[in-house]
Amino acid sequence: MTENQKWMQRDLSVVWHPCTQMKDHETYPLVPIKRGEGVWLYDFDDNKYLDGISSWWVNVFGHANPKINQAVKDQLDQLEHVIMAGFTHEPMIRLSEELVGITRDGLDYCFYADNGSSCIESALKMSMHYWRNVGEPTKNKFVTLTNSYHGETVGAMSVGDAPLYTQSYKSMLFDTFKVTAPDLYEKAEDETEEAYTLKRFAEMEALIHDHHHEIAAVIIEPLVQCAGGMRMHSPLYLTKLRALCDQYNVHIILDEIAVGFGRTGTMFAHEQADMVPDFLCLSKALTGGYLPMSVCMTSKKIYDAFYREYHPESVFLHSHSYTGNALACSAALATLSIFREDDVINNNEQLIQAFAKYTAPLKDHPNVAQVRQTGMITAIEVVKDKATRTPFSWESRIGLKMFDYAMKHGLLIRPLGGIVYFNTPYIVTEEQIKWMVNIATDAIDYALTQV
Ligand SMILES: *Cc1c(COP(=O)(O)O)cnc(C)c1O
Repeated sequence: MTENQKWMQRDLSVVWHPCTQMKDHETYPLVPIKRGEGVWLYDFDDNKYLDGISSWWVNVFGHANPKINQAVKDQLDQLEHVIMAGFTHEPMIRLSEELVGITRDGLDYCFYADNGSSCIESALKMSMHYWRNVGEPTKNKFVTLTNSYHGETVGAMSVGDAPLYTQSYKSMLFDTFKVTAPDLYEKAEDETEEAYTLKRFAEMEALIHDHHHEIAAVIIEPLVQCAGGMRMHSPLYLTKLRALCDQYNVHIILDEIAVGFGRTGTMFAHEQADMVPDFLCLSKALTGGYLPMSVCMTSKKIYDAFYREYHPESVFLHSHSYTGNALACSAALATLSIFREDDVINNNEQLIQAFAKYTAPLKDHPNVAQVRQTGMITAIEVVKDKATRTPFSWESRIGLKMFDYAMKHGLLIRPLGGIVYFNTPYIVTEEQIKWMVNIATDAIDYALTQV
């Protein structure tokens, strides 16, 4: 038995893994990771894998990054954690100042939680509670887009729509207004991006016009619906939405948990739409992929609606044990310092072009319906029939087959059904991009022979 096999066996007798049919591990081995360095992950048998998906989109500057390691080690000797109600600490104050500094005016306060889903829960509660506090308690419903994903706690699932994550739990979710996403994959070939986006937006306009008195907020993943298959839309939709929501007194919650911190090419996705949300949810890359933390940023106007003489019904009641964890804040501060010192957003431009260049030939592949890209996120839609864009059924397990092939060749990708995507740490090289695209192409061709 190899070292990998030994650890796998011990794991499988005591651990239940997330989003996993555990029985699949009878066929596809679990991969015990011993250590990470840069873009590479190493298992116990000394195989290495390039982390093409940033370990579920969290890692931006590589594993065991020396700067982030040092920051966390230094903080560890000072203070690991303290209760956040009534107390504060230096890393959280400095991080909040920096976040307010790098975001636009109107994102003035930071409210922390310890994962993305909890951040969504706090934004939903804050929006609805704001309307209560200002005397409009009927504004308590939410508008969401089709195919959206906001996390897997009950509130976050309720405002989500990707059926894979919500179908089995439907009976416990609350109702929302649902609007068709402005997903450019659905755009007709002879339609302009603008005309298509405005057509989709008309549906949002009609809904807000009719129901604004019962709507607290619209919640959206700006520019890319990641878990929904890396489906992309025009920034125009967000610009229009801001004007509409201003007109009808409706909040905008932007879920930038996956797309924040440079993923779309700009530091934050909404910068491309020249708008400011009422709530901005950040997590994942916030700590460079080191420690669980999230932050819901909001305006002074929202904050002020809660700032008054004590009454139990007007105070924002939301807390998590690990809120504002000092180690996580120190990792986040180190991550932000790398963005600044290494001019990361500008330098990523070259990587973005490399992804475009090397994935371009896949557009002619007989089973690829679309290659799409927004910033550092590139997706390849593999389908059963290119002419009709018929996807593979879930029974084909095509994603798993592509994953398995790529892993055997040293690349970690985790396709969403037939959708292969790259979402790498920003320290990847052009040479590695070229190599990854080659392996992924072979993985697609291999999987097509197996379905
Ligand atoms: C990952 C994700 C979440 C949930 O974050 P968790 O930390 O996994 O709870 C919410 N929204 C989006 C867009 C995400 O990608």
